[in-house]
Amino acid sequence: MRKPFIAGNWKMNTQSATAVALAAGLARELQAVDQVDVAVCPPFVYLQSVAAALSASSIALGAQDVYFEPNGAFTGEVSVEMLKDCCVNYVIIGHSERRHVIGETDELINKKIAAAIAGGLLPIFCVGELLAEREAGKTNQVVMNQVKKGLAGLCKERVQAVTIAYEPVWAIGTGKTATPAQAQEVHAMIRQLLTEMYGKQIAQSLRIQYGGSAKPSNTAELMAQPDVDGLLVGGASLKVEDFAAMVKTAAKN
Ligand code: PEP
Repeated sequence: MRKPFIAGNWKMNTQSATAVALAAGLARELQAVDQVDVAVCPPFVYLQSVAAALSASSIALGAQDVYFEPNGAFTGEVSVEMLKDCCVNYVIIGHSERRHVIGETDELINKKIAAAIAGGLLPIFCVGELLAEREAGKTNQVVMNQVKKGLAGLCKERVQAVTIAYEPVWAIGTGKTATPAQAQEVHAMIRQLLTEMYGKQIAQSLRIQYGGSAKPSNTAELMAQPDVDGLLVGGASLKVEDFAAMVKTAAKN
């Protein structure tokens, strides 16, 4: 059985006081929930204050990105060790905004995933097609390619640290959610690919989150899909009531 995993991606939102208030509110609202793994991913600069606000809760801390080199002349980048030093467990890698706005390649994403796992972080590895790719019937091809390239060179032992987040780019921040059937179809395809790459046991144990305008009103139907093991939540993770409601719904599933 895969334990549901809901993560909030705060993106470039909040300020020092609102980040702490959001974390403290979630810690309060979710103290009785242990059927779901929960993580929040604030901006780098608020990691330490959010870590302090979460210290008495079971909510884990995630970062939104990491660099693959351990240290040195990489202005603006943040290393695995720096994140661990700030109590971070999870790290989002390959988010579509980093792929399509910042220009990250599959090769860079692969290096980040490998470095994160080698250093003891748990990657949330994002994949997903653009609208034009879906309309051209290329969804499976695009997503398979991203999964294969992102996980290239990872052995069975290492890949177990990974959560995959399927996030159709056309659904992120647009209010357009993939239907539960659309999500399930791609999740099942990813799991089949993982079976071919790593065998059934590992493929069955890996969690695949859905992301893209997930909100309280569609959480139950998304989580009811057999291969949807959790959610990566953007906009709705910025409100205590919404994110807490989603976690509680997932706990009942
Ligand atoms: C995301 O940022 O990963 C995301 C899914 O955003 P939203 O929920 O706002 O679509």
